[in-house]
Amino acid sequence: MTNHPSVLFELSEAISFIHSRGWCPGTGGNFSVVSSLSPLRLSITPSSVDKESVLPEQFIEVDETGRLLSGSGKPSAETLLHVAIIESRRAGCVLHTHSPWNTALSLACPEDRRSLKIYGLEMLKGLSGVATHQHSETVPILGNSQDMTALSSEVLSVLSEQPECHGFLLRGHGLYTWGADVFEARRHVEIFEFLFETVGRLKSIGAADGFFTYS
Ligand SMILES: [Zn+2]
Repeated sequence: MTNHPSVLFELSEAISFIHSRGWCPGTGGNFSVVSSLSPLRLSITPSSVDKESVLPEQFIEVDETGRLLSGSGKPSAETLLHVAIIESRRAGCVLHTHSPWNTALSLACPEDRRSLKIYGLEMLKGLSGVATHQHSETVPILGNSQDMTALSSEVLSVLSEQPECHGFLLRGHGLYTWGADVFEARRHVEIFEFLFETVGRLKSIGAADGFFTYS
């Protein structure tokens, strides 16, 4: 019931690429791919592993409670957030990045707003099911917390309230996005990080009107 080595190799390559772009420096971020939905089993990066080079044999196998089933290393506390996303979206792969632009934009969100809305950009079409640049993508922004049980139930409720979203931000922390498989989830990371950097650069030169808003 474990993932095929070629799937783990694909995930390993995706993590190296994401690290090389500066989107998960050091040991930041965590990355998983589902091996079975029922019962839920996933391969995930163990806690405190440098993301520059994660070998396929370094992934650990865990269940829906985050309990270690095989491999060596400690499951990340954030495993429960991966499980919440998989259960809510039937995702096959969940990727979590800590980039400067996603961190900056989540922190720039006014206290009374709960999401970042991005619209009118061609690259939005890289998100699954989006066919036009006129799409408006709402990215929920959740408060950061070390209480992963509480945070995972908040993730479940936000994802059920916003069934169209392709990812969400944790304030001052990072992005969670997902896909049917590693290929799609990796593309979503690239698209979101492009969108965040573009919005951040537009904002920093005072030219953002018409492309994003906090709502
Ligand atoms: Zn994190």
